[in-house]
Amino acid sequence: MLKIGGLTPFTTIDYPDRLAAVVFCQGCPWQCGYCHNRHLLDAKAPATISWEETVSFLDRRRGLLEAVVFSGGEPTMQPGLLQAVGMVKSMGFLTGLHTGGAYPERLPELLPRLDWVGMDIKSPFPDYQRITGIPGSGEAAGRSAALIRASGVRHRFRTTVDPCLVNDGQVAALRRMVEEDWGSSYDMQTVRGF
Ligand code: SF4
Repeated sequence: MLKIGGLTPFTTIDYPDRLAAVVFCQGCPWQCGYCHNRHLLDAKAPATISWEETVSFLDRRRGLLEAVVFSGGEPTMQPGLLQAVGMVKSMGFLTGLHTGGAYPERLPELLPRLDWVGMDIKSPFPDYQRITGIPGSGEAAGRSAALIRASGVRHRFRTTVDPCLVNDGQVAALRRMVEEDWGSSYDMQTVRGF
């Protein structure tokens, strides 16, 4: 159902105010220079833990964990995500998604099954290719952000700042756009090494 490249069994920082596990999905279509999950980028790489093992682990954690976050990589790259999220939700967990927004066409079906979404806003949308290396990535991210905002699902946008790629003025403009124009939550983090 889902190719998984890693599992964090317990975290307090990946889903707001809840104890969560994080399922790291294998594969991402983008190539950000500062990516810290490079082992997850190759969609053809073998899984490190099977979906069945993951479900079995979650089954044993019912009552202990409150939420399961699908992260990556880019989780929406895998068509099986929809069914996987539905299964986890039916087990009684809150469901979360970390996404860069590369596949907006998958969100209309997916969003109703999610309780929380954290989306990266990498830069002003017209400038995305400079960071992701992929033409059209900013357009896809913009469409995803609009769908998430319109969905009513609790969400937060976040920028990972590499000072070589995004300057202070751009970050301030992104914050204004998200907080003032969109009325959504926003935070930023500085890329490791700075
Ligand atoms: S979108 Fe995320 S996972 Fe994909 S290359 Fe960029 S930082 Fe890495």
